[in-house]
Amino acid sequence: MSAPVYLGMPTAPRGVGHLRGADPFPVAARRALGDSQLRRNLGRATATIRAKRAAVVGELPDWEELRAAGSAIKAHTMAHLDRYLEQLEEQVTARGGVVHWARDAVEANRIVTDLVRATGATEAVKVKSIVTDEIGLNEALAAAGIRARETDLAELIVQLGHDRPSHILVPAIHRNRAEIRDIFLREMGDVDPGLTDSPAALTEAARLHLRRAFLSAKVGISGANFAIAETGTLCVVESEGNGRMCLTLPDTLITVMGIEKVLPSWADLGVFMQLLPRSSTGERMNPYTSMWTGVTPGDGPQRFHLVLLDNGRTAALADPAGRSALHCIRCSACLNVCPVYERVGGHAYGSVYPGPIGAVLSPMLTGVADNASLPYASSLCGACYEACPVKIDIPSLLVHLRARHVEEDAGRLPSPEAVTMAAASWVLAKPSRLAAGQRAGRLGRLLSRDGRIRRLPPPLAGWTVARDAPAPAAQTFREWWRAREGGPR
Ligand code: SF4
Repeated sequence: MSAPVYLGMPTAPRGVGHLRGADPFPVAARRALGDSQLRRNLGRATATIRAKRAAVVGELPDWEELRAAGSAIKAHTMAHLDRYLEQLEEQVTARGGVVHWARDAVEANRIVTDLVRATGATEAVKVKSIVTDEIGLNEALAAAGIRARETDLAELIVQLGHDRPSHILVPAIHRNRAEIRDIFLREMGDVDPGLTDSPAALTEAARLHLRRAFLSAKVGISGANFAIAETGTLCVVESEGNGRMCLTLPDTLITVMGIEKVLPSWADLGVFMQLLPRSSTGERMNPYTSMWTGVTPGDGPQRFHLVLLDNGRTAALADPAGRSALHCIRCSACLNVCPVYERVGGHAYGSVYPGPIGAVLSPMLTGVADNASLPYASSLCGACYEACPVKIDIPSLLVHLRARHVEEDAGRLPSPEAVTMAAASWVLAKPSRLAAGQRAGRLGRLLSRDGRIRRLPPPLAGWTVARDAPAPAAQTFREWWRAREGGPR
């Protein structure tokens, strides 16, 4: 199937890619591994979430059937995405909302900025939303003189700390309580100087800080977890109630949504409302689930704008082997089980989408060349696939992206790995070459002591930085075979 084109959108648009100034994964991961506090924070937090998730998932005898249903609904929706998006637009419009189409980050930011400006507001309150991070909305608004205030506690910590989120669900997972208290004391201005680092005290400080913003906000900005095509209903799930404040108190609500979030019907939503809370926060049901359909006179926002964002999604959809990455419901279960993520954290990925799904989504949305090292940021152990509530085969997607990277790289200067493989291929092609190579390799015995080589010369020196190499055998298998059995030469 070729990529669908919505309302004149070109395919393969590009938006904000690898975060500006971010180091490639190998460099950033090495730095993160040296931060023992970060590793402790991450290890503790992911172990807690993993245990909670395992307990509530274990309660459901039909968990595997639910996963299969979620996967099938997503596959069906992606195969008919054009139809469901047009239905969603019709329904939102019929109920008093306005739908905007954005082909990339620049266009989405311009639309949102113009909409906020039209209200005369210079401030907006925000519900936690990864898609607005993806397009760099806060920075675009700031450039236009509009302050976007994050209201989710973890996002607030990240914003006040002039930091970046490091987890899809728990953006400040890399911070511990003492660090959060220090940020609040330094940045909030109106906070009690005797603030302790107890969770209750920190939460209360954030509530007081945010209350004034909620009550004075004219504009709310959100993402969306789901949109239901049959009625034009939007859905945001969150666990603090701040989202509901943003979605109901301001006069104008602007929702930015990736086009892959649409679902055909309410019956489909029922499946995801079972899968998502258990997979993300390890809860049986989500604490605050807000849904709205267009505009209701005298109740809630009186102006509703829905910005439907492509930003590389139709290009991902055009890749039959990779499009299942668009099934992701951003639960973060794959992050919490990933041994690589647990050790290096989210910042090392240099993308707003960290962890296993980030290693897939970022290259798919913004191009493999922009994120060349991410498909390799995995041990391919398969834990992410096991945990994913919509059964995205992340390891296979990573291998697929590695292949694309190799293909895109063909024609450039060969890598040391490619040179080594070509040499090995030449040697292995003829028994006489292999025998000559083995005889030459035997010279390595000169470097060995007690049967081990502790330091190899360049360019092989890296191998022995953290391990010994065995000394080459005094006799090859063929020589041994000839001597004992009179085997083939
Ligand atoms: S890939 Fe699966 S497990 Fe990972 S965030 Fe997306 S839905 Fe959750």
